[in-house]
Amino acid sequence: MNTVNMNTMSWVAYRDRIATANPPIFLPVGALEQHGPHLPLGTDALLSAAVAASAAEQIDGIVAPALSYGYKSQPKCGGGQHFCGTTSVDAQTLIGLVRDTVREFARHGVEKLVVVNGHYENQWFITEGIDLAMRDLQPGAKIQVMRMEYWDFLTAATLRAVFPDGFPGYALEHAAVIETSLMLHYHPELVRLDLIPDDGPANFPAYDIYPADPDWVPPSGVLSSARGADAVKGEIMATELAACIAKAVMTEFERA
Ligand code: ZN
Ligand code: MN
Repeated sequence: MNTVNMNTMSWVAYRDRIATANPPIFLPVGALEQHGPHLPLGTDALLSAAVAASAAEQIDGIVAPALSYGYKSQPKCGGGQHFCGTTSVDAQTLIGLVRDTVREFARHGVEKLVVVNGHYENQWFITEGIDLAMRDLQPGAKIQVMRMEYWDFLTAATLRAVFPDGFPGYALEHAAVIETSLMLHYHPELVRLDLIPDDGPANFPAYDIYPADPDWVPPSGVLSSARGADAVKGEIMATELAACIAKAVMTEFERA
């Protein structure tokens, strides 16, 4: 099996892999953002990178180092910007990072690029970065880019099994059952189950307010309970995500 991680490959080995195997390159994107007292600040990048690596292993892909700073945390899906440790970038910065890296991968001769997002707030700025990079490239450039939120690959059956009492939705799933279970699977040493807070689910109005009101958000930063999290759920989800993403990448790029 070939090396999966781009940042541990030499440029020569990387160049030769691109030239001979035309492998899919995975670019994980995350955030540095509070995830309650029980999960690390880097959770979104750790998870997008772990999911991308598991998918890449199945199809002989390569994973680039994650873009680890994300767009500003929003109260309704990440707790907001008032938490110490949450370290976010302006939209232009994220758009620029994505635009520049996509253009660079195209220059390397990469034809199959898969951007795996792990931070809810990043979605449209990643989209914009890809769009501007595609506009930068010469007509006839061979690169194609897939873009995804990794959680969208979880099936309804899995969500029913993971949430026997009902799924609260991905926005409220911040630092809750999905992320905590996946971290228990990929990085159990980084999870403090004893510190999972008792805060009930956040209850937001239908509008946003600026400046944001920290009182809208549970003081722990967790938007719905992580109590139902466990490593078995994490393994079920991780297995499904890797297989489904690998299959989607193979299917999409085979048609090209
Ligand atoms: Zn997260
Ligand atoms: Mn996030």
